[in-house]
Amino acid sequence: MKKSSYNNNCVFCQIAAKQLPAKIVFEDEDLFAFYDIKPKADIHVLIIPKKHIATLASLESSDAGLMGKLLYRVRLLAKDLGITEGFKLVLNNGLKAGQLVPHLHFHILAGSNYTDISKI
Ligand code: 5GP
Ligand code: ZN
Repeated sequence: MKKSSYNNNCVFCQIAAKQLPAKIVFEDEDLFAFYDIKPKADIHVLIIPKKHIATLASLESSDAGLMGKLLYRVRLLAKDLGITEGFKLVLNNGLKAGQLVPHLHFHILAGSNYTDISKI
């Protein structure tokens, strides 16, 4: 990961850099996945690009490959996590849509105890 893509004030950048603890599910050069600290379903995993991208709305065309890689990883992680009966993939874009952490992330939610999607 390029140093310039790290944001000192970002909790998810700090998690991806292992400066804050998290229950890690997957990591490679570009991506990081970890369990949500306040799960809103039986399985609740967050997947992020290591690069600090604040919101989906701030994506640049050069991020397209990274986002494709991220989505394909979701498909592989769902299998690795033993999710056989479907899952939700949620992205809140912007504060008004409920994005409290301004580092792009998808919520992978599975199992039977889903919180109302509007509260994720
Ligand atoms: P958002 O509301 O931004 O779409 O989702 C942020 C998610 O990050 C929430 O589900 C919240 O529980 C989770 N979260 C916030 N801080 C931390 C943290 O320090 N560690 C972990 N593992 N999850 C966090
Ligand atoms: Zn960040």
